[in-house]
Amino acid sequence: MATIDVRSVRKTFGKLVALDDVSFSVNDGEFFCLLGPSGAGKTTTLKSIAGLVQPDSGEVWLGGRDAGDIEPNHRNLAMCFESYALYPQHNVFDNMASPLRSPVLRLPDAEVRERVGRTAEMLGVGHLLDRGVDQLSNGQRQRVALGRVLVRPANAYLLDEPLSHLDAKLRTSMRAELKRIAHGELNTTTVYVTHDYVEALSLADRIGVIKDGRILQVGTPQQVWDTPETAFVAQAFGKPRISFVSGGLVSDNGTIRFISSDGAITVPVPDLDTTAAAAGESVRIGIRPRDLVLHTGAGAQPEGHERLDGVVYVLEHLGRQTEVTVRIGESLVSVVAPRGDVGGLAVDDKVSLLLDPATVHVFGDSDDGRRL
Ligand code: ATP
Repeated sequence: MATIDVRSVRKTFGKLVALDDVSFSVNDGEFFCLLGPSGAGKTTTLKSIAGLVQPDSGEVWLGGRDAGDIEPNHRNLAMCFESYALYPQHNVFDNMASPLRSPVLRLPDAEVRERVGRTAEMLGVGHLLDRGVDQLSNGQRQRVALGRVLVRPANAYLLDEPLSHLDAKLRTSMRAELKRIAHGELNTTTVYVTHDYVEALSLADRIGVIKDGRILQVGTPQQVWDTPETAFVAQAFGKPRISFVSGGLVSDNGTIRFISSDGAITVPVPDLDTTAAAAGESVRIGIRPRDLVLHTGAGAQPEGHERLDGVVYVLEHLGRQTEVTVRIGESLVSVVAPRGDVGGLAVDDKVSLLLDPATVHVFGDSDDGRRL
């Protein structure tokens, strides 16, 4: 059983609280992504699991056993941290074989050859085993570095931003390969640290969102996307980012409506949990750019949609689509529209946004504001 339980872990460095009551569990065979901005505590969490950082309080359990008294090199975890290095004077085979020849494992030569060969094939570097690592491209080097981790028989893999040094194109192709490997051939418990939400959404069985040393939400990619529990989690996923508008709630003939602070935007919020939200409360709503439809006059308005009138503030062409930021009163709301729909549109032109109220997210009015 290769489960990982992080229980109320707190870690301080002097006055800095790096981890503040961090708890989450990773199931056997699960691919768990820890997603958060720089300094959130991702690496410190990983090091706590590995036993390289001693928590001030709280516990880490591995396979149902308190790991407090298990030395780091007896935890049987294979790790790769952001700044991992290869031995430049060795070839690919020896680089990948070195963890298997370590004093802790010391596998027989035949098994070393078999494991290195299989892992190298899996990562598409099987034909490069005799090459010196100084004769590899960046992408090949990154695969070898990942191979050094995945080659080990381990209870779990701890991967810290393993794709961070790749350019955008290689990153995308390696991400797809990693997904295939992790969910197919590997099937080993993995904690994967990243600050890239696309990586987390595409790779993870579940995602833990961390900020300022606190876990804000743990859920499947679908859950964190559809029902973000805080405004911060909502803005951590999606590009363009979700637009926020601050205002208040009013009760209008039994329906709760949101009215922006300047009164320019009013939307019914029918799905709101009325036990959690009181009329008069200060809130912010979140609207994802792809949940809106840009309306430039032509075509009928779909039934059940609200119409928000504004003027074009910024136009950004993204290839086949265009991000249009629309100013409505004092608020800026983004929409993504097909390029064909924005031909001839210019800054200050009048436009409307069509909104299905069911897609509106409502939060308390701060970055840490909770979902209502
Ligand atoms: P990044 O994405 O930038 O790697 P992270 O989410 O992995 O960030 P951590 O490296 O875990 O964040 O750091 C969390 C906080 O703890 C940061 O403010 C960092 O400066 C601090 N920190 C981490 N290790 C130490 C240390 N050994 N001594 C002092 N402060 C530390």
